[in-house]
Amino acid sequence: MGANRQKSVDFRGRYTPEVAGAAVSGAEDPADSRSHNLLLRRRASLMQEPVLVLNATYEPINVTAVRRAMVLMLKGVAQAEELHNSEVHSASHAHRVPSVIRLLAYRHIPQQSRALSRKNILLRDRNTCQFCGRVFPSSELTLDHVVPRSRGGRSSWENLVACCYRCNNGKGDRTPEEAGLKLARRPRPFTLHTSRQLMRLIGHRDERWRKYLFY
Ligand SMILES: [Zn+2]
Repeated sequence: MGANRQKSVDFRGRYTPEVAGAAVSGAEDPADSRSHNLLLRRRASLMQEPVLVLNATYEPINVTAVRRAMVLMLKGVAQAEELHNSEVHSASHAHRVPSVIRLLAYRHIPQQSRALSRKNILLRDRNTCQFCGRVFPSSELTLDHVVPRSRGGRSSWENLVACCYRCNNGKGDRTPEEAGLKLARRPRPFTLHTSRQLMRLIGHRDERWRKYLFY
């Protein structure tokens, strides 16, 4: 990747069109290539922007990325309720980018709909080590069994917490009490309530989300 990257950067340190152009079909006017190139980069990040997903009843249920939201719209599964100020262009059309979409058919969301996974535990604990209270990038966190597995501790929402490597090593095969550590809070399953708190956290950036999240 390193060598590739070198080759694709022009003398001003910007990406040359050849790279970005690979994703584009059709002949391009070379004079437009630089601005077009910038446009494509903007578009790539735009496609990752968060979109609030509402149930058919306008109840907020999830956050997804623009790319996924537009697929749901194209499939006729969802429609846009609020639009972003930006557009993306396909060969023949300009599409307004959604900021909030709504599912057209009601979907039953079980109270505990999140799968027990490393990603979701880190999300629940907001990337905060539950022993020292510091925030880490995901790569610097591990999952700790509060009651160690060797002592019969299960892999469950109530027994797994985000933990930095330092605290994890310090704790070893002991319970928090034995290791003199204290949990920041009691670990709980990921509920819709937790999801909504996270949606609010993300949604603070987007005015268009407010009326669906703060009521
Ligand atoms: Zn820690």
